[in-house]
Amino acid sequence: MNAPSRARQGAVASPHSELASDLIAREKQFSARNYDPLPVVFTRGEGSWLIDVDGRRYLDLMSAYSAVSFGHAHPRIIATLIAQAQSLGVTSRAYFNDELPFLLERLAKLTGMDRVLPANGGAEAVETAIKAARKWAHKIKGVSEGHAEIIACRGNFHGRTITACGLSTEPQYRDGFGPFPPGLSTVPFGDATALALAITPRTAAFLVEPIQGEGGIIVPPAGYLRECAAICRERGVLLICDEIQTGLGRTGRLLACEHEGIKPDGVILGKALGGGLLPVSAFCATDNVMQVFNPGDHGSTFGGNPLAAAVAMTALDVLFEERLIERSAEIGPWLLGELAGLRTHPFVTDVRGRGLFIGIEVDPRAIGARPVVDRMLARGILSKDTHGTVIRIAPPLNIPREDLAWAVGEIHAVFQDVARDLKRAA
Ligand SMILES: *Cc1c(COP(=O)(O)O)cnc(C)c1O
Repeated sequence: MNAPSRARQGAVASPHSELASDLIAREKQFSARNYDPLPVVFTRGEGSWLIDVDGRRYLDLMSAYSAVSFGHAHPRIIATLIAQAQSLGVTSRAYFNDELPFLLERLAKLTGMDRVLPANGGAEAVETAIKAARKWAHKIKGVSEGHAEIIACRGNFHGRTITACGLSTEPQYRDGFGPFPPGLSTVPFGDATALALAITPRTAAFLVEPIQGEGGIIVPPAGYLRECAAICRERGVLLICDEIQTGLGRTGRLLACEHEGIKPDGVILGKALGGGLLPVSAFCATDNVMQVFNPGDHGSTFGGNPLAAAVAMTALDVLFEERLIERSAEIGPWLLGELAGLRTHPFVTDVRGRGLFIGIEVDPRAIGARPVVDRMLARGILSKDTHGTVIRIAPPLNIPREDLAWAVGEIHAVFQDVARDLKRAA
């Protein structure tokens, strides 16, 4: 099947069927109103394509925020899921199982860390990292109990727990959820001097995304992470990289922090680690950090269950055997080059990214990102706006190049349509 003919089926916006309308109405009636989904209802996923309940096909350039980095319904990952589910699913960490040890060993070796603490969702692994850092500050660094501080970056996204929201600088993520834990502060992203100035004798850790994802695919200046790593080492502060979204090949390296050749004290993984099928996350760290945990200090009923461990192992097999890190490194710059031409539109203020992690920023005085995303949807292309001004392009790492080439043409057409409409309205 060639891409354009498959895609054409999804390229025309049409009114919702009764089925789609009913499903949307039902969700709107019974769901908490904490999401505002695009008006499309999916029932199947195949590789880089999603199919809605009316049979229309859409090319997925969003990959569920990188959770689906290996595409939908990857046959190998599904085979593992089924076989492992039939063999052993969940035992809790009250016992050993014969899958988890291999995942722990593999993650430790891949990240260059000594030990791994498995969890489920990303926010849970972030919370684990923060608990580890605070306890390390108290037990090893000698900060008095209850006074350890965590520094993060403005514009960060580390999840939706109370602590992560306490670190957030996004008013909506905080509104009404206080009080937040003390000992949390932020510095501007991309400014190593600001970090040096913010560190106090009580600072436990600097928590940072190597590229800010939800913040709008913000790539910091070259050398930033290296400088931060040097500052942290010199001042006795842990450097913890949140690679939940940037990790596992998304930016063209296994970990985005490898672009700067640094070795943090802790690395947080999630999203793609679950192979697009399960929530699987991990906090990987040096012995220096992990030594603070003793039996009973911290845990998770589902963390490290054999089903999750087996699926994550196969997801990692797919990442390496399909050479997806190299693919992201190869196709990413090509895609960025193809999209760079959008800058000729005066309402496009930036096109940036690394690997298959790209953001197109629009001028909100001309148009918001959401209407652009809606127009892409009408042409059968799935994206998502972030912060009202950035359109996120982060397809599965194994997306066929011809599908991506088709999408590039459609995206250019969308921006031309916007340019025409803006001119007419002026
Ligand atoms: C998505 C994300 C999280 C939170 O992960 P969840 O699985 O949604 O809890 C944390 N940090 C970063 C950088 C993320 O992109």
